[in-house]
Amino acid sequence: LNRSAERLCIPPIDETFALVALKQLVSIDRDWVPQQPGTSLYIRPFIIATEASLDVDESTEYQFVIIMSPSGSYYKEGINPVKIMVEEKYVRAVVGGTGEAKTSGNYASSLISSKEAHARGFSQTLWLDGKENKYVEEVGSMNIFFKIEGKVITPALTGSILPGITRESMIHVLKQNNIPIEERAITIDEIIQAHDAGTLEEVFGTGTAAVISPVGRLLWQGEELIIHNEEIGETAQFLYDTLTNMQTGRLEAPLNWTTRI
Ligand SMILES: *Cc1c(COP(=O)(O)O)cnc(C)c1O
Repeated sequence: LNRSAERLCIPPIDETFALVALKQLVSIDRDWVPQQPGTSLYIRPFIIATEASLDVDESTEYQFVIIMSPSGSYYKEGINPVKIMVEEKYVRAVVGGTGEAKTSGNYASSLISSKEAHARGFSQTLWLDGKENKYVEEVGSMNIFFKIEGKVITPALTGSILPGITRESMIHVLKQNNIPIEERAITIDEIIQAHDAGTLEEVFGTGTAAVISPVGRLLWQGEELIIHNEEIGETAQFLYDTLTNMQTGRLEAPLNWTTRI
């Protein structure tokens, strides 16, 4: 939150204060925590500018708000693979812009693409880089991973990709389990070639809301790539189980990853 705030000239919030407030709110609202598997209490802290002014300038007043909602899975498909459209015309972010900050403006620029994806029966957009329209960046609200010939690959953080905490955590889990993981530039051509050669084993996204979301189909230049027979792959399933078991206390998480309230 503070890293994103800095990019937007919002003063940092005191971390201890924010966490005490968040824990108190969850504690008060504990009856709203849903108990069914795959559900959770979604917590969304955010900061908005509240100064009454017409100037295009940083605000002198801000409000820090935490809202929560019981939630089911992010996609109606749940853990079942989703269909993703690779965007060919619009771009989400460029290096030097606000792509690596968690800010609503990034979503504003992505809505038209989501709308087109939905109209074609796809859940979300896979963004390519804003300069060459060639390197894979991320999906609208999740980071993206590919498994090619046993190796997991995710785009390196270039400055235009949101550095998701789920991405970082899953890279850690993969390393701990000796599953090869590479953070590097990956082009859409490499994905297509791997698919055509039969070596594209899995595609999945990671995010707080999406958890681990397998991708079963990619639309690119009018062609639909079917991935892993539109079934969840073993790596996505393993990461999903590991993450949700840590969240629910069935599996011990690394230090500071979980807090009991
Ligand atoms: C929120 C978000 C993610 C996922 O980030 P997490 O910290 O893992 O929840 C990825 N990409 C975008 C664009 C996002 O807005």
